[in-house]
Amino acid sequence: MRKGLVVDREAQMIGVYLFEEKKIYRGIPRKKVLKKTRIYAGDYVIGSLVDKETFAIEKVEERKNFLVRPPVANVDKVIIVFTLKKPDFDSFLLDNLLVVYEYLGAEPVIVFNKIDLLNEDERKELKKWKDIYSNAGYDFIPVSAVSKEGIDELKDYLRDNISVFAGPSGVGKSSILSVLIGVELKVGQISEKTDRGRHTTTGVRLYQFNERSFIGDTPGFSSVDALQFMDRRELKNYFREFLRYRCRFSDCTHTDEPGCLVKEAVEKGEISKERYRNYIRMIDSSK
Ligand code: GDP
Ligand code: ZN
Repeated sequence: MRKGLVVDREAQMIGVYLFEEKKIYRGIPRKKVLKKTRIYAGDYVIGSLVDKETFAIEKVEERKNFLVRPPVANVDKVIIVFTLKKPDFDSFLLDNLLVVYEYLGAEPVIVFNKIDLLNEDERKELKKWKDIYSNAGYDFIPVSAVSKEGIDELKDYLRDNISVFAGPSGVGKSSILSVLIGVELKVGQISEKTDRGRHTTTGVRLYQFNERSFIGDTPGFSSVDALQFMDRRELKNYFREFLRYRCRFSDCTHTDEPGCLVKEAVEKGEISKERYRNYIRMIDSSK
């Protein structure tokens, strides 16, 4: 028996990558797998080689997580891509995405693209956001798909992981994917499934780079409302920096309770007022 990784999944097609052979085989589900188990990109499958092209899948390994959007299993990192300009940065959207992917059980990482476009003042502004999100507890990697600045760092950071992209359109997700895997894809390809003849929303391909690193070509949420996923009272648990504080009331919502250490931390500048403002905006919009 061998273990492979499902790297291509759409309609009836299952592409299984075998690490020893360094080759993608056509996966055929057998026995119980056929009836009971749905198979997704990112699934580790156990089975045997039937011929030069075919891998019989006998078993699907337990998943550490499963993202609905994109439909990929065992996601280590969600690369949330934003830009300071073109398009303008939207911290409210970023904070929603951070909450949602953390809730779904994948580690979000913030990538700011198009830093080649920034003048000195804008670089300072980028630094401000980098400090805010680093202090909050997130990794933050500035890159440029054009000048390639930061790309090696990003590659190292994603080493041996299964990663997928999320973030608004136009920020350069397809461009970063092309640069990472060293193949010229058509701009916009990652978001335009029909270009590749995919008809379902379930089609996902994982591209390989650095031997054991894989990255999805189907992007996740481009905009999202965190409170569609969870109760308003749960939201505070997904603002990482809030978890450092123990307020007087254990069920403190950090809005107007006495003895709220989170509000105090905002006033002292320990927690960013931008992040806190976005938290309040999410809560208010749900009322
Ligand atoms: P996506 O919608 O997120 O996949 O974004 P694309 O990869 O299609 O890129 C949108 C536009 O931004 C295209 O015109 C790209 O050429 C451009 N672009 C992407 N990355 C960069 C970058 O690092 N710097 C600059 N200046 N432009 C970029
Ligand atoms: Zn509080």
